[in-house]
Amino acid sequence: MQYIKKQNTEPADWNNWFTVPPNRRSYDYGADDRSLPDLRLAKSFLINEQHSLCAYCQQKITLENASIEHVTPKEHNKELSTNYFNLVAVCKKQQVLDPLTGNLHCDSTRGSELLPPLIFYSNAQSTDQNLNKYFSAYSTREVVPKHRLDMNTKNQVEAFISQLNLNHSIIKNKRAKDVLTGISIAANSVADKQRYWRAQYTRILLDLGHPFREYLLVYIGPKIGLN
Ligand SMILES: [Zn+2]
Repeated sequence: MQYIKKQNTEPADWNNWFTVPPNRRSYDYGADDRSLPDLRLAKSFLINEQHSLCAYCQQKITLENASIEHVTPKEHNKELSTNYFNLVAVCKKQQVLDPLTGNLHCDSTRGSELLPPLIFYSNAQSTDQNLNKYFSAYSTREVVPKHRLDMNTKNQVEAFISQLNLNHSIIKNKRAKDVLTGISIAANSVADKQRYWRAQYTRILLDLGHPFREYLLVYIGPKIGLN
């Protein structure tokens, strides 16, 4: 999970990206964004906004392996289906089914179920800025509710993890590899780690292809007070 810092207002061209000639809003675009090139601009905008990480499972995403996801599903509120604040980019079901993951990808895992209101809510910032109040990760990168949450909050966090199947072994292993490799590069003590990442921050930020760039921006930067 990451906090997605949405703009205060929708991007200037947002409405145009979602308008299909002749002047129809594209409610039912689904995954067919190839036939609607402007939707790819919207998707690209969302991917950049999320530092190229899936909004739910945090795998790296690109224009080709991501789709636009309705936080509040279309089935529940059609009007929100093109609302900037209701849309995020997530990893997409692969064409060839993986025998282990099957259909498991974030654009299809939960179907049209509503997510717990605590974490995602419609027509507002997509995510709560204090996500780290709710989630913790073991060293195995299994996502779990934080200690000492009240029962209602804990239930919602557990429901969220389960609805999106965030601890599926494939996703968990990938997370462990990507995140932990980045973090473990630094020395052992917290102070050493902070010094290391502060020193590397600008260099990695400017290196668009750096393997840990997204993780530095999303996870490590906020921890060391850099973004
Ligand atoms: Zn995902």
